[in-house]
Amino acid sequence: MHRRFLVALAICVVSLAAVADSRDIDSFARKDKERTCATPHPSDLEAAAMEDHHRELSDRGGDRFRVGAQATTVTVNVWFHVITNTSGAGNVSDADLADQLQVLNDAYSGLTGGANTKFRFAHAGTTRTVNNTWYAAGYGSAAETAMKSALRQGNAATLNFYTNAPSTGELGWATFPSSYSSQPLKDGVVCDYRTLPGGTFSPYNEGDTGTHEVGHWVGLYHTFQGGCSKNNDFVADTNAEKSPAFGCPAGRDTCTTKQYPGSDPIENFMDYTDDSCMYKFTDGQAARAASLSGTYRGL
Ligand SMILES: [Zn+2]
Repeated sequence: MHRRFLVALAICVVSLAAVADSRDIDSFARKDKERTCATPHPSDLEAAAMEDHHRELSDRGGDRFRVGAQATTVTVNVWFHVITNTSGAGNVSDADLADQLQVLNDAYSGLTGGANTKFRFAHAGTTRTVNNTWYAAGYGSAAETAMKSALRQGNAATLNFYTNAPSTGELGWATFPSSYSSQPLKDGVVCDYRTLPGGTFSPYNEGDTGTHEVGHWVGLYHTFQGGCSKNNDFVADTNAEKSPAFGCPAGRDTCTTKQYPGSDPIENFMDYTDDSCMYKFTDGQAARAASLSGTYRGL
């Protein structure tokens, strides 16, 4: 919802080809310009096991694991990794990156209208790489592995934010906090560079793809993770939602039985609505993110 540098929007033919990946909930029906996030959903069983593991670590670790969760705010160091092709495409400016960082800080501090989470973001550095293969790297590709292995900086608490143009069509993807210990080099967030503030991927060009993917990185699921179910996204104050919402469908309510009251959380950063529609995290998401990031990232 940060709107400082909303420039004239070029009309861009956005080819969002379907990604055939059975692990990926984002195999929902797609059409041009529908948000796609390739962050994989765990199955219900996997999600439950992850919750158990997190509880066990939190209980066992006490302050060692949860020290960060007690702090009022914590600053996340952010490394941007800008990938361009040999034609120069993808070459976002330092000002564009600063705008993206501002969008994150506005969103996570509640300035756009949601919860004031504990997370603040500071620029730690930028790398710039010309590489046609990495420029087109999609989720789960060998190119993704090579790119991240070569460029990643810092530790579990460091946010590595890659920008490129995934040939597979997704706007972005991220890794969860609990994945760090087994795959530290894969850790981070990837966003199509055209989703940055002022980019050409209207209506996803206000930087909230970054906000959404960083949401996964601090431990949040999609608001529709478990559909109409008790656990859903493991956050009590986001109403259950059966499937992703696109556009900005006010009043949408896909879980209609009485145990799931309230309309869909279309205004939540972890749904699939347009950037101009999503503006908030909830207090429950702020608490969950603090706990997961405290446990697995030491944040
Ligand atoms: Zn997502």
